[in-house]
Amino acid sequence: MRKLGVLDALTYYRASAGDPPRCGQLSTDMDVDVAIIGAGFTGLSAAIELAAAGVRTAVVEAGPLGWGASGRTGGQICTSYSPGMAKFVSALGREGAQAAFDISEEGKRLITQRAEAYGFDCEIKWGYLICANKPAHMDELKAYIDELESFGYGGCELLPKERLESDYLGTRIYHGGLRDPGAGHLHPLKYVHGLAAAALKEGARIFIHTPVRALEQGKKIRLRCDAGTLTADRLILATNAYIDGLYPPISRRIMPVASYIIATEPLGKERARELIRHDEAVADENFVVDYFRLSADHRLLFGGRCSYSGWHPQNLAAYMRPRMLKVYPQLADVAIEHAWGGHIGITFNRLPDAGITGEAGNIWHAQGYSGHGVALSGMMGKLMAGSILGTDERFELFARIPHMPFPGGVLARPAHTLGMLYYRARDLLG
Ligand SMILES: Cc1cc2nc3c(=O)[nH]c(=O)nc-3n(C[C@H](O)[C@H](O)[C@H](O)COP(=O)(O)OP(=O)(O)OC[C@H]3O[C@@H](n4cnc5c(N)ncnc54)[C@H](O)[C@@H]3O)c2cc1C
Repeated sequence: MRKLGVLDALTYYRASAGDPPRCGQLSTDMDVDVAIIGAGFTGLSAAIELAAAGVRTAVVEAGPLGWGASGRTGGQICTSYSPGMAKFVSALGREGAQAAFDISEEGKRLITQRAEAYGFDCEIKWGYLICANKPAHMDELKAYIDELESFGYGGCELLPKERLESDYLGTRIYHGGLRDPGAGHLHPLKYVHGLAAAALKEGARIFIHTPVRALEQGKKIRLRCDAGTLTADRLILATNAYIDGLYPPISRRIMPVASYIIATEPLGKERARELIRHDEAVADENFVVDYFRLSADHRLLFGGRCSYSGWHPQNLAAYMRPRMLKVYPQLADVAIEHAWGGHIGITFNRLPDAGITGEAGNIWHAQGYSGHGVALSGMMGKLMAGSILGTDERFELFARIPHMPFPGGVLARPAHTLGMLYYRARDLLG
């Protein structure tokens, strides 16, 4: 398991999710039809579908359930894809782009369907605000609404500055925004636990604290772990930004970007609702996004900043607090109770990277949701399972999208880091 030091501090989610479903470590050799590496949203979603279809399925996870991004995320259920739809149109044509958009919408519905079907609560709330950091962002938000409408998605509303301040947010720093009633937020670790319980119920095996040390390819895939080898006909890599060097053909195409989150002490319902009146998820329009929302126990969870270099500030709370106070100066007297971070998986073009590789053509992967994985990952897990079962051809849509490898090593990509600094500088220029 990769140790991330300061990023691995106890998250608000782990402190509030309750007991996870019981899973052990892999302690013997085992043979299955499909092995899945990674017990985040992607891997667990695939496991539910495969096990429900009677496929012998085992998930191996280096840490506890949701150890990667899924247990650390901002929990925002976003609409569409990180770079917007134009890149899909270039890569897949208008029809393919529409199919991809519809899949992203199905991804949102899938969260609710699974919670209802398997009877778990992950605090899903609908409503999402995107805020303009500068006046020019209002034009971008209008263009975004037009794009969504052209893909059949209605209901978003542009909010002038006065309305945003009087009806929605207790801050005056934004120049307006948009409200999307079809996006929202959830408690991600409760969602992970719910998915894991569902996968176990369907008959999947889940082994936690079981890092895969080596992956041997062939008609039979062998995953070497500390106390046993998992052998499988097929493999799903659901490792996203946490893959490190395990399988270079796909790790080259993803860049782990660290993002940080702080959680305040509970503010009480009234004070919390002065910050976000209708409990929406909120993000701003900068390239390096600030994202925030309230928790069910009325804390402000505030995320943002980022690191492309692998360097992290030693005191995350002190590093993040000024950002939060810039938006909400009225929280100057409030204590920060949790601060953590995690790695978002970014691809070069910001489109999800999915495909089938391997010497025997039996390795599926989906990664690089580029900050939109809460909604997309469950769907990509489902599509990988559908591809393996031969019941759903839509995975091939994503496999058609070309992806560039990042130049440089996994955590040292100087050219790309400079590119990101350029965009950060652009954010700062009003
Ligand atoms: C701080 C932060 C904030 C975010 N905010 C948002 C947000 O608000 N909205 C949004 O849509 N997205 C957000 N994201 C991104 C989103 O969380 C991810 O896209 C999503 O969780 C990816 O899920 P996953 O299952 O594919 O990967 P992960 O959850 O990262 O799971 C991969 C798993 O693979 C395991 N693994 C890797 N290698 C091995 C190995 N060799 N052996 C065994 N196990 C291994 C890891 O331990 C890890 O648990 C955020 C991410 C972070 C880090």
